[in-house]
Amino acid sequence: MIQLVRGFKDILPPESSVWQYIENTAKQHFENFGFKEMRPPVLEQTELFKRSIGEHTDIVEKEMYTFAGSKDTMLTLRPEATASVVRAYIQHKLYAADPVCKFYTIGPMFRKERPQKGRYRQFHQINAEVFGVDSPYIDAQLVFMLMRFFERLSIGGLSAHLNSLGCPACRPAFRKDLAEMLAGHSDKLCEDCVRRLDKNPMRVLDCKVPSCREVVADAPSMLDYLCEDCALHFKAVQQILDKLEIAYEIDPGLVRGLDYYTRTAFEIQTEELGAQNAVAGGGRYDNLVEMLGGPAQPAIGFAVGVDRLVELVSAKFPAYDSGPQVFILPMGDQAMEMGAQFACLLADAGVITEADFSGRSLKALMRRADRMGAENVLIIGEQEISDNAALLRNMKTRHQQSIPMDRLVETIRAEFDG
Ligand code: ATP
Ligand code: MG
Repeated sequence: MIQLVRGFKDILPPESSVWQYIENTAKQHFENFGFKEMRPPVLEQTELFKRSIGEHTDIVEKEMYTFAGSKDTMLTLRPEATASVVRAYIQHKLYAADPVCKFYTIGPMFRKERPQKGRYRQFHQINAEVFGVDSPYIDAQLVFMLMRFFERLSIGGLSAHLNSLGCPACRPAFRKDLAEMLAGHSDKLCEDCVRRLDKNPMRVLDCKVPSCREVVADAPSMLDYLCEDCALHFKAVQQILDKLEIAYEIDPGLVRGLDYYTRTAFEIQTEELGAQNAVAGGGRYDNLVEMLGGPAQPAIGFAVGVDRLVELVSAKFPAYDSGPQVFILPMGDQAMEMGAQFACLLADAGVITEADFSGRSLKALMRRADRMGAENVLIIGEQEISDNAALLRNMKTRHQQSIPMDRLVETIRAEFDG
């Protein structure tokens, strides 16, 4: 038997209904804030991720699914969506009509990480990205939109964590001091962090290894290094969140795993998940559009981890298989033909319909209807054919009514509309 690939999973009914619920809620909620859907492909040139995410990140160094395309190009299954959205924004000159563009996108991402609970190799994200606005107003709005989204899904124990990562004017001084401080304790750092010292010392702040966490406890804070513009920007984000009554914590240890972030970085965590407690992360990336060959346009975005959300929502509202509204039980050849027609016509009229063509006894069919949770059965037997009327029976109240065949679709539809 061929099994699925480790770290990948099938999303089966009834769990798929939870996915639909989350995705539909996101679409509706984000569109209220002016976001439009974009659907980039899952495959891009490897170069795109190397240049945006950064060569010295875990993702690019060891987690990408990369293979040879035609000619000399290397292709990669996207490990995240922002790079693709930025590529599309540049390639299609979406900034030409108006530099301010707001997109959301929903779909699978691929990272060769060690699979564990809450961590998969194909996982799903809902992303939102805003281009062309550097105002701190939009940073606060994104955090607000996210927190309200989780509230709509009844997810509790949430906290918003904020930091500012500065900009190319103020970050280098911090980076230098941080690297020096860390180098003095390199004997206590894990192997990965020793490697990071040179290339990407800020990633050490993010390391989960306990001995690294100890070293990092005494690290300088980027917040003490912010230039005036960055400091004012970050202050304004906080003031707007205060006005909107969104609680947040300032977390100077919060850095994001990708190189392209500037200024505001944020993460939403929940107490309800255990080790993999981050349900969303994001931040500003004011230089990425230009870095990838587009015009200098500021940008900000976030990614929500859908797999973890599904876990949270399923724990509260267990998914269940809802049965058909009408389950047609035809008995006899003529009834089969009638039943087949009504199964199509009723479904097309908007009534959730199922039919059983096995030709088994009424008793057996009723048992199946019960098991499936059918709300009603529509019995068509010899008697019904000769009366030219089918029998609709409510499975709960046991109320029965005879419905003329020639008005069957309208009558049943009217019943469910009311
Ligand atoms: P983590 O710290 O949990 O590894 P991350 O910083 O790598 O997260 P991002 O790249 O910011 O994650 O992605 C945003 C969200 O996507 C995360 O908050 C998380 O909910 C989800 N996510 C990331 N990687 C995975 C994965 N391998 N499996 C399931 N969900 C994931
Ligand atoms: Mg990660």
